[in-house]
Amino acid sequence: MNLKCLFGHQWNDSCMCERCGEIRNEWHKWMLVEGKCNEKCSICGKERSIAHKWDGCKCERCGETQDRGHKWVLVESESKEKCSICGKEHNESAMYVFVTLSNNALGMLTFGNTEYYSEEYCISKVRANFGLSLDFPVHYIPQKLWGGPKPQQNGNSFTIDLPLVNALQLKYLVEKYNIDKNDAMRGIQQAQVMQVPNLGMLWLCVKLS
Ligand SMILES: [Zn+2]
Ligand SMILES: [Zn+2]
Ligand SMILES: [Zn+2]
Ligand SMILES: [Zn+2]
Repeated sequence: MNLKCLFGHQWNDSCMCERCGEIRNEWHKWMLVEGKCNEKCSICGKERSIAHKWDGCKCERCGETQDRGHKWVLVESESKEKCSICGKEHNESAMYVFVTLSNNALGMLTFGNTEYYSEEYCISKVRANFGLSLDFPVHYIPQKLWGGPKPQQNGNSFTIDLPLVNALQLKYLVEKYNIDKNDAMRGIQQAQVMQVPNLGMLWLCVKLS
């Protein structure tokens, strides 16, 4: 403490002592910073952030965007939906197949039975099962890419750590395919399973539209 203020500062309803210039963290005089969601103290220069002023997906004040509140409109010339506020493209419909194999399958693979475990086989079965046309995109995501856990096989049924699976699926869809988190979540909640127990194969099918 400065000797000048040995017997107390002279704050005078301010964040800065009139006599010695010491700053305290109260009585700031907040002023809005132009074009930012920040306020700045006009006396000491301290800044703090304030809540954005969202208009849908975009902040009216600072221009920051969030991945919600988009306003989708169809762009006829490109035949896809885009947000009229921020320009983000709406995700196309697609099927995402998260593939995972049990220990049985891994054992069979080492004996060379590979045709059932191919991407082509999986996609053709998924198309047939869900009645998907040939131009409907089906993304095959092998276990090593999404890091899915191995299912435990008990006779004709599988058990798998579903909360972990869902968390990994969400992460993958959002990070690798840039899918809106809410859309991805909705798809995951409605995911359907295809399984071939005697081959130790489990396909977790997430359809987004
Ligand atoms: Zn002072
Ligand atoms: Zn201040
Ligand atoms: Zn803002
Ligand atoms: Zn938007």
